[in-house]
Amino acid sequence: MAGKVLIFSAPSGSGKSTIVNHILGLHPDVEFSVSATSRPPRGQERDGREYYFLSEEEFRRRISAGEFVEYEEVYAGSFYGTLKSEVERIWGKGHAIIFDVDVKGGVNLKKYFGGSAMSVFVQAPSVEELRRRLEARKTDSAESIERRIAKAREEMTFAPQFDHILVNDELEKAFSEAESLVSTFLRKP
Ligand code: ADP
Ligand code: 5GP
Repeated sequence: MAGKVLIFSAPSGSGKSTIVNHILGLHPDVEFSVSATSRPPRGQERDGREYYFLSEEEFRRRISAGEFVEYEEVYAGSFYGTLKSEVERIWGKGHAIIFDVDVKGGVNLKKYFGGSAMSVFVQAPSVEELRRRLEARKTDSAESIERRIAKAREEMTFAPQFDHILVNDELEKAFSEAESLVSTFLRKP
């Protein structure tokens, strides 16, 4: 299992976290990659669980030192990225890594890991449905939902750069398709 990488990306609200959590529940030998970020913790977030929280200065120092597999300034002044040490930590345990990242991060990670990685683009059946899910999730303000929808239209254009497109319409069906992709990939020598 060590050396393998699963990448799930999608516009916000498509259901990628729901699907990634389902896969984690089925595979004890698959581990979630914790990203580093320079934004401050929110709510109940704990260092090392949701993110490794670094100051912007420390984040920039680690960029210069070449410590990141991939990073992005997602919002002005807020950096997010995957540390090489995180990849080594998970592979060192003999586990496969699963990533739940935005679409640009997903494309960059696939380029970095190549044939060791399987990348999956999770797609909501329509933009209207995406909006309904974001509203039902109740974690975003109306303004934030509009921003995410506008971004989603651009993000959808990245879908062809992924190994697989998984349409998340009926959840149980999406779970079983995701599981089939993952177990086939993990079984490959
Ligand atoms: P993402 O991680 O892509 O932002 P989430 O996994 O948080 O998306 O899903 C967004 C919302 O949509 C959540 O409230 C989730 O429970 C719901 N959801 C996920 N998949 C489906 C589905 N197939 N049908 C209806 N609701 C869904
Ligand atoms: P949030 O601040 O809401 O937790 O995350 C903001 C955005 O950063 C999300 O779109 C999330 O997917 C993205 N993100 C989280 N970790 C990484 C990472 O390691 N690399 C990249 N490129 N984006 C990330």
